Amino acid sequence: MEHLKQLVRSIPDYPKPGIIFRDVTTLLRDADGFEQAIIALAEPFQSEKVDAVAGIEARGFILGGAVADRLGCGFIPIRKKGKLPWKTIGQEYTLEYGVDAIEIHEDAIRQGERILIIDDLIATGGTADAAAKLVRRSGGEVIGAAFIIDLPDLGGLKKLEASGVKCHALIAFEGH
Ligand code: AMP
Repeated sequence: MEHLKQLVRSIPDYPKPGIIFRDVTTLLRDADGFEQAIIALAEPFQSEKVDAVAGIEARGFILGGAVADRLGCGFIPIRKKGKLPWKTIGQEYTLEYGVDAIEIHEDAIRQGERILIIDDLIATGGTADAAAKLVRRSGGEVIGAAFIIDLPDLGGLKKLEASGVKCHALIAFEGH
């Protein structure tokens, strides 16, 4: 996993002072790195029944699509508010300043389906927690959530675990 960590580009003070942006485009560009990441994200769920992967816009689409293909299941996009064309269920979550919202198609999940949530990074966990709520409100069961990167100092992964979601992260970076 040290190899994967080296493929992530760290950009200080982006998008604002004090934040180090962990840019996975450099990892995605690397054939071996991309393949290794997808294998590792899917691995804990290979022997489980997974009905669909739900990926969070936008980097969660790239990773989630590939993981779904690997697990032999379908893919569900969880999008920022106002982007999905059909009827939706929405969930607000708190940002550092203000609120944001994500949406899922109301018919994307059938009652009792087992759903795996995928995103590139978990920080405070607000986005992933909102995604888990959307899956549950849609009748699905969240069987886990997997991320390439955890920022443990922000505590999101622990919080999500505490809410009953089995979490996996491939690598971690200190700080914000
Ligand atoms: P959070 O809701 O705080 O867990 O934030 C997670 C979402 O914001 C993910 O979709 C990430 O892609 C993005 N994000 C948050 N912090 C960073 C960071 N330091 N570098 C890159 N992306 C981030």
